[in-house]
Amino acid sequence: MAQKSSAAVAAETSQEPVSASGTIPFETLKVQKVNLEDFPNRLPIGIFAFGERLQELEFHPYTTEHDILLTRKGNEDLKDTMGRFLPEIIKTIGGHSLNDIARELGQGSPKKLVERMYLADVLTTVLNIRLATVGEDVAIRDKCPNCSTKIEDNDENGYHDLGTVEMGIIPLLEEKPIFEINLEKGFRVANDTATTIHVEPFKLFQMSKLKGTPQKQIMRRMMYEMVCGIPDIPAFAGIKSGLFSDNEYAALGKNLDDRDRLNEAAETLLSVGPRMSINLICDACSFEYSSALPWQDVDNFLSQSARASARRMDL
Ligand SMILES: [Zn+2]
Repeated sequence: MAQKSSAAVAAETSQEPVSASGTIPFETLKVQKVNLEDFPNRLPIGIFAFGERLQELEFHPYTTEHDILLTRKGNEDLKDTMGRFLPEIIKTIGGHSLNDIARELGQGSPKKLVERMYLADVLTTVLNIRLATVGEDVAIRDKCPNCSTKIEDNDENGYHDLGTVEMGIIPLLEEKPIFEINLEKGFRVANDTATTIHVEPFKLFQMSKLKGTPQKQIMRRMMYEMVCGIPDIPAFAGIKSGLFSDNEYAALGKNLDDRDRLNEAAETLLSVGPRMSINLICDACSFEYSSALPWQDVDNFLSQSARASARRMDL
C-alpha cells in the first residue's frame, strides 16, 4: 500500500480533503471547447492522485444489476445515485481502481470519492456511459423558440447525436485545480481585509447543498460553494467549506469590480464539463438554439432499455 501523505491522513478526520499542493493563478486557467466525440472517455478535469492527473475512463460492461442500482430506493438526488452507481460501473480512472484511488486520497470508500469528484467530471462520465450503453442517438423533443416548429426525434425523423454535445476541458493542469483570485480592494471580515480568494471547481456533493435554492440565487450560491480558502482571514484558517456566504458577498459592498471578478471566475469554472444540451438548427427557419438533454431522469437516460422505451412511448 502506498505511503499515506499527511494531507490524506488529515482528510480522514476532516470534512474536506486538504490540498497538499499550492494554488494556481486564476489568469493562467485556459478552458478549451471541444465536442464530446472528440474527447472520448476522458475527464475534463480529472482526479489528482499518485502524483498524476487521472483522466482516462474505463467501464465495466453494463448489466441488469446496474438497472437495479440506478432505480434503488433512497436515490434521492444525483449525489446518492451516482455515489452508488459509478463505483459499480467504472472499472478504472487513469488505470487505477476507485478503491485504490479512494484509499490513496484517504476518502474511505469509492462512494465518498465519487461524491467529491468535480461535477464536470461526473456529468462527462454520465454522457460517456450513455454513449457506451445506448449509443450516440438521443431523442430530442422541443419547439423552435423562433417559429414554434416542433422537433420530434423518432425512428422515422431520426435522432440527434450525443457526440455533438459541447464541453469545456482544461488541457493543461499539473496539480489539483485550486486557483487563486486576487481582488483589487477585497472585503473586510472582523479586523482583516481579504484580497485573496481560493476557488475550486464545483463538486458533485455540493449539488445537495443547493436544494431548495431559488433559481435566481443559484449562480451566486454555486460561486460561494466554489470558494475553498480565504487565506487573509485567520479566523477562516483550516475551514474548507462554507467560507463564503451572503455576509462576505455583502461585505464586498461597492467593490463591484471585485464582485465581477468572482462571478466571472465562477462562470469560467462552470464552463468546464459538458453543456447538458444539444445544439439544433431549425429545419423551417434555420434558427439556431439548444435543447436540454433528457438526462435528469438519469436511470432512464443511462439504461440499456432507454432507446427501446423511447420508441415504445414515443418520447
Ligand atoms: Zn424555427
